[in-house]
Amino acid sequence: MSKTETGNYIGGRWSTTAETMPVVNPANGETIAAVPRSSRETVNEAVAAARAAAFDWAATPVFERAAMCMAIAAAIDAGREAIAHTLSLEQGKVLAEARGEVAKAADGFRLAAELIKQMGGQTLPAEDPGKLVMTIRQPRGVYGVITPWNFPVNIPVEYLAPAIATGNSVVWVPAPSTALVACALMAAMQSAGLPAGVVNLVTGEGATVGDAVVVHPDVTAIAFTGSTATGRQIAERGAGKPMLLELGGNGPLIVFEDADLDAAAAAAAGGAFFNAGQVCAATGFVLAHASVVDRLCERLVARAAEHVLGNPLDSATTMGPLNNAKVAAKVLAHVDDAVAQGALLLHGGRARPDMGSDLFFEPTVVRDVTPDMRLCREETFGPVVPVVAFQDEAEALALALQNAYGLSVGVFTQDISRGIAMAKRIPAGIVNINAGTTWWEIHLPFGGGSGKQSGMGRLGGMHTLEAMTEIKMITVTLPG
Ligand code: NAD
Repeated sequence: MSKTETGNYIGGRWSTTAETMPVVNPANGETIAAVPRSSRETVNEAVAAARAAAFDWAATPVFERAAMCMAIAAAIDAGREAIAHTLSLEQGKVLAEARGEVAKAADGFRLAAELIKQMGGQTLPAEDPGKLVMTIRQPRGVYGVITPWNFPVNIPVEYLAPAIATGNSVVWVPAPSTALVACALMAAMQSAGLPAGVVNLVTGEGATVGDAVVVHPDVTAIAFTGSTATGRQIAERGAGKPMLLELGGNGPLIVFEDADLDAAAAAAAGGAFFNAGQVCAATGFVLAHASVVDRLCERLVARAAEHVLGNPLDSATTMGPLNNAKVAAKVLAHVDDAVAQGALLLHGGRARPDMGSDLFFEPTVVRDVTPDMRLCREETFGPVVPVVAFQDEAEALALALQNAYGLSVGVFTQDISRGIAMAKRIPAGIVNINAGTTWWEIHLPFGGGSGKQSGMGRLGGMHTLEAMTEIKMITVTLPG
């Protein structure tokens, strides 16, 4: 990657700023690059570029925009190995997971290309026989897209592909710790021939450049994925703008006494250890019927013990470091809080600085966790499976209802009627019966349940295209 391809990308040109931020390899603490620490002024330039491009891009025929999405997918596929390497190097996820993420990113562009060709309006009857009434879907204008570091390729694509397909232009602020792979994705869009100004990338501190995007009067809509705390700030600062807010999660995986315990343990461990647990839909905690806790914990420990912690670029490694010091401190604090209050550590539970940096954390299983412990109340975002026992279905439901978050829940039971009844009662955006909390495919709806702290709106497939467009009614008064 050339030097100019690691800066801001505004109006079709790469640039940098006097002040820069280091990008650090979490596996060894080494600085691997410097990216612009941009100012609010830089955001103003990016918004101006997006605004200048917006009209022409919105007027570009749908089939041309779809073809652009296909070209970007091809560019991502062509650069797949290099993008995956950068992703693994700066994010810390193992290379196999990084390759999967990049492959899905290309799929995301192909999906948007397919869907935009199917997106229609309506013609509607009117009481007045002299009227022809129709609706069309139009892009909202300039989108502010702000994204986190845990899936720094896929999450941006969940917004960028539908934005490009629907004819919006974008100012994109990636998380600082994964700014390098954002540049790589931007370079793929550039190499596919995306017109100047349609997507503009600005790196910097979220509180500066993210906020500048949110409050800018020419940014007409916001798409944000990140923490609940930041989401709240954005909702206030950008009040009145259309918003997709995809926030934190702490979903339970509920295991009833009749569950297939091997499948439940595989799902619980998979959902807690994938991406070292840094997943919004991760297994937040396991709610297990008291009669199966022992047998389930044996299986969870066996799964945790299979993991090989190490350099994410080594093929033998199955779990890399956490991404940054803030998340590492939180994971340790949550485990320590549980142990101090009487929870029993069955496996792991320690940071492993001997592995090369302070960010390695052992895959952890902890039982006798109670609902008042931080592991249960807050999002941990690390490789930890906390197990909480319940006595009966009513208690399981009460504990699930008490959850502050409402993103994704899993229910393991052979009694499908019971599973469906639980699914209908729990206020989460997703309930997977006999699968883990992380099961989702990119064409399906994803988002937080109302009244909870996991955000608002739905992304996935046509849902994002709908969210990124608005309905305009056009009426024609017929002659005569
Ligand atoms: P974060 O909220 O700290 O940062 C997210 C993004 O917001 C970053 O780009 C950051 O630079 C920017 N930002 C920070 N402060 C800002 C401000 N004041 N105004 C505007 N932008 C600002 O989150 P994170 O630590 O990067 O990501 C982890 C969080 O994301 C977790 O809580 C996780 O659950 C959540 N997440 C949610 C989903 C979902 O789909 N619901 C998916 C992945 C991650």
